[in-house]
Amino acid sequence: ILIIMKDTIVLYSAIGRGHIFSVVELGKLILTHNPSFSITILIPTPPNTATVDTTTFGCDSSITFRHITISPPPSGTSPFHLVRYGNHNLHQVLQSISKTTKIKAVVLDFMNYTANEVTTTLDIPTFYYYTSGAASLSVLLYYKTIIESKKREQCNYIEIPGFPRILKEELPSYPEELENIFLDLVATMSECNGIIINTFNALEGKTIKALQEGSCFPDESNPAPIFCIGPVMSLPGGEKDENGCLSWLESQPSQSVVLLSFGSLGRFSKTQLTEIAIGLEKSEQRFLWVVRSESDEDSLEDLLPEGFLDRTKEKGMVVRNWAPQVKVLSHDSVGGFVTHCGWNSVLEAIGEGVPMVAWPLYAEQHLNKIALVKEMKIVLALKETENGIVSATELGDRVKELMDSEKGREIRERVLKMKESSVEARSEGGSSYVELNRLIQLWKEKDHLSLLSPNT
Ligand code: UDP
Repeated sequence: ILIIMKDTIVLYSAIGRGHIFSVVELGKLILTHNPSFSITILIPTPPNTATVDTTTFGCDSSITFRHITISPPPSGTSPFHLVRYGNHNLHQVLQSISKTTKIKAVVLDFMNYTANEVTTTLDIPTFYYYTSGAASLSVLLYYKTIIESKKREQCNYIEIPGFPRILKEELPSYPEELENIFLDLVATMSECNGIIINTFNALEGKTIKALQEGSCFPDESNPAPIFCIGPVMSLPGGEKDENGCLSWLESQPSQSVVLLSFGSLGRFSKTQLTEIAIGLEKSEQRFLWVVRSESDEDSLEDLLPEGFLDRTKEKGMVVRNWAPQVKVLSHDSVGGFVTHCGWNSVLEAIGEGVPMVAWPLYAEQHLNKIALVKEMKIVLALKETENGIVSATELGDRVKELMDSEKGREIRERVLKMKESSVEARSEGGSSYVELNRLIQLWKEKDHLSLLSPNT
């Protein structure tokens, strides 16, 4: 029997749920546009971690998963450098795939940029998948100029092509080691075959234009091609109502509940949790709050003010660690979202037309917030005190403003329009649809001289 193997696109996810989900959905999306490819998803497995259970992703047989073993890295290794310790295994896996299948391209999650050392050696066309938005990418690509201009005293703001004008003090500051990693990453990104971004034209048009024109790139005259194919996001399904929050939402009035959820890593001190609790109580709004604390051992009773759970039980629900967020956001009872501005959360809220209060915590979330406030205008911003705490009054006021004010209503209207645009972008003829087809066409045509072609 002659078995004809489909050409494959290899997607290499970074570590972490947000990244893996996004990469899996990208894989599914590619297949809906072109079923003649197969997709191979690589998942890094660092020492002493369980392998990810890929059966829960609901993929059909056109998607194959392979685990890449990461050897123990030296202590203090940056998350950006972790997969370098799996490069030996990556090399073997790519060679073994290529014995039976032609690898058309490798798409690296941008966090995995050090894997580029392998794909370059093997001469495979290499693309990056930027799992966040165009705004933070423009800042990243412009980083060299930003470092230089931060040192200059004359001016207190920075003009970054495609990004709202910001004060120097508004830019997050990163340790020098991380800045050097950014510069390294940008150098490899600038030379890759293309950058795929999880965004869409109606959401970040100005920034996307600046990226396409090359003005954010270190070498303006030679930018990498840009493909904005989003929103890529996980659809509701698969996640059970383990802590009962979906059935609780059933009993709440339409658009009355504000969700508070801070991604897979957002944790708060007991002091901050107390401020949130007091603020929520004062706001008199209904809420569903996902609480993650610095220690997993403490119970909710230990963490929250005395009597809080009892006093608010008619209006609020508090769950520990995790809620099925997409399902919650899609529930009719939910009318607002206090978010850490993780990009997946932002796209999910847009996809469900839910207005947001922005409370960025880590990574590129402060940059997302700036774009969400100044360009997209679909969030209210929270102010932190000087010691980095958001006060009860501030949180309560913003939640009330979001759920019950003219400004809140304006934001809701804008986010509902953006929801429509996000659907249009992915529909036939929409901007993201066209961009993805352009990318697939490139992959189809690109008969590169790969050392890994099975026929050589
Ligand atoms: N998420 C969830 N339940 C939670 C917290 C997060 O389902 O309690 C999901 C959320 O829907 C999103 C992802 O985890 O898809 C988090 O990704 P995001 O980019 O927002 O933040 P990160 O965790 O990467 O900081």
